[in-house]
Amino acid sequence: MIVSEIHTNQSIVILGLGRSGIALAEALTQSGAKVLVWDDNPDVLLKACERGLEALNRNKKDQWRGVDILLVSPGVPFLYPKIHNIILEASKAQVPIDNDIGMFFNILETTKKNFKIPPKVIAVTGSNGKSTTSSLIHHILIKAGTTVQFGGNIGKAVFELNPVQNEEVIVLELSSYQLEVAKRLSPDIAIFTNFSPDHLDRHGGVQGYFSAKKRLFDSGYSNTSIINIDSKEGLLLLNQNASSNQDSQSIRVTSGPLTNTKDWTVGCFLDRLVEMKEGKEVFSMPLKSLKNIPGVHNQENICLAYAACKAIGIESKVIKAAVKSYVGLKHRIQLVGIRHGVKYINDSKATNSDSASVALKTFKNIHWICGGEKKEEKLTNLAFNAKFVKKVYVIGEDPIEFAAQLGFDPHELCGSMEDAVKLASEEAIPGDIVLLSPAAASFDQYQNFEKRGEHFIELVKKIL
Ligand code: ADP
Repeated sequence: MIVSEIHTNQSIVILGLGRSGIALAEALTQSGAKVLVWDDNPDVLLKACERGLEALNRNKKDQWRGVDILLVSPGVPFLYPKIHNIILEASKAQVPIDNDIGMFFNILETTKKNFKIPPKVIAVTGSNGKSTTSSLIHHILIKAGTTVQFGGNIGKAVFELNPVQNEEVIVLELSSYQLEVAKRLSPDIAIFTNFSPDHLDRHGGVQGYFSAKKRLFDSGYSNTSIINIDSKEGLLLLNQNASSNQDSQSIRVTSGPLTNTKDWTVGCFLDRLVEMKEGKEVFSMPLKSLKNIPGVHNQENICLAYAACKAIGIESKVIKAAVKSYVGLKHRIQLVGIRHGVKYINDSKATNSDSASVALKTFKNIHWICGGEKKEEKLTNLAFNAKFVKKVYVIGEDPIEFAAQLGFDPHELCGSMEDAVKLASEEAIPGDIVLLSPAAASFDQYQNFEKRGEHFIELVKKIL
């Protein structure tokens, strides 16, 4: 748990009591702050009170008098689609608003002088590939013998991390919900994986979503930015970064041919990672044999992780060896098993068109299970080679509408995962792939994407 001397005796209100909100409340209570908590879900609030936390009294007059700060959890909509009453009231009362990420950077900055070799933070954001890239960086750093912790939007919330050590590296995955609220964002290395529209209702549109991501790079604190330049948003970030912050350096990542390579670039092209500096190739490694993390999108993730580890001082050959032993994350193009030559792949984390497209580009002879709660108005970003998809099995709340938008034949309206897996496995022949890659959120039928993936795995294991 992270404790904070700078918040002792402060009066703090925490809104939203998911994992990060509870961690924050307990850590700040330990730090000697007066903490009041709130969640709109009465069961969640009751549970927090049973853990010893005190609820904010919503009936009290002048409830914002003397409050030093309001901390908002990522699950609570900040401004859109509708501002929460508590955020509105705090704003009117001129109470500063922040979140756990902003507090974490703040604490780190004020305690840096206590370390002989201050800890470093690597922060990863982007639309897709954040978890894979950040967990790969974590894996490489462990293999390199670095003291490292990992959390943020994956695994541990930041205030659940252990007290930060001398010379340690903290790898943080950061979502747009976390970035839009954090007051201070001062990583040593900031990474941008890629960009495609997502969470538009929470950000008031695509510009709001990009602005939230961009905040990680706009702060002027990070001294290394690692940016995938294959989207126009990435290119713009690189350009603005280079011109606005003379003390910083940028590393470009691309899966296109390596042109204009006088700048530090890490590229993946024709199944090789190539690092270029001042126009010269300084390192390369083959990527084709990495079966645990297949596809060009994962090659991009490897380039980002490679660049981050190089920037922190790890030798190329150490990174190369570590990448080989990385096993990948669950629910991201995860091989569940093989039966009669048919591979079953769980890609439940593909909750938007872009992430499903990369899975569809990775395989051939696909029996594709998709659908769920639609995030996008239209599936316009979904790009795949129709020759490689044998049949579509649509699940979710409105399979007819989803199938109509896909416009792909042959297709089957299954509705349930059980029917989809059963049918796909009956129809697949040796050499085929049964792929769950929904291109939609899971909340219509499941608690989250993990539960959806677990259900798929359970059904497949019965067949296996
Ligand atoms: P995030 O944490 O950003 O959601 P993940 O690493 O969990 O990213 O991957 C989420 C989904 O996106 C998975 O379906 C995965 O296969 C896909 N994906 C992973 N990396 C990329 C990438 N670089 N570009 C596009 N899609 C990706």
